[in-house]
Amino acid sequence: MKTALLSNDLEPLERRNTSIQRNPKASLIRDTAVIVAPTVTIQGSQYLVHFGPAKNPRYHTVTKNKECSCGASYCEAIEAVRQYLLAGGTRAPDPPAEPACPICGSKTFPDRNWDGKYTRTLGWRCEKGGLRHFLEARTERIKKQFAENPWLIPPAPGYPGVRRDELMTWEECEAIRRKVFLETGYDPTA
Ligand SMILES: [Zn+2]
Ligand SMILES: [Zn+2]
Repeated sequence: MKTALLSNDLEPLERRNTSIQRNPKASLIRDTAVIVAPTVTIQGSQYLVHFGPAKNPRYHTVTKNKECSCGASYCEAIEAVRQYLLAGGTRAPDPPAEPACPICGSKTFPDRNWDGKYTRTLGWRCEKGGLRHFLEARTERIKKQFAENPWLIPPAPGYPGVRRDELMTWEECEAIRRKVFLETGYDPTA
């Protein structure tokens, strides 16, 4: 089925190519058309470069810091983005600024490993305090939430209710923080 479709698709193309080859000028046009120029589009705050089927991987993502997702430091995709910008292509918007660390006010960096699965909050690390400041901030938030409203489901006659701390206690959070510190011995604040 697939082969039948393919040969049907190729047929008009082949016919066109043979007719073009008779004309030497048109043959030049055909040759340049074969080299597919990479297409550059904006994806979030990065550039998505598509090389077409001839290249593997076809898609490369280039950051504003000229780093390519494929890992090659001199990737053609980086050059393609440079050419695209030189030709007046639209610049990708700057990535949204990471909020300052609520513990010490330093820069923070996203850390997907600590994204809250249920709370839908984004995980991060602090430039100075690392994961410790994230966990400290989270502990504070859980304490505050609990002080404001300890009930997830308030008690009703014949039903004891569910307290927030029954799901995630701040002590639990503290324990994770200590565990990370003990395991890695990493204390950037020390
Ligand atoms: Zn690349
Ligand atoms: Zn911090």
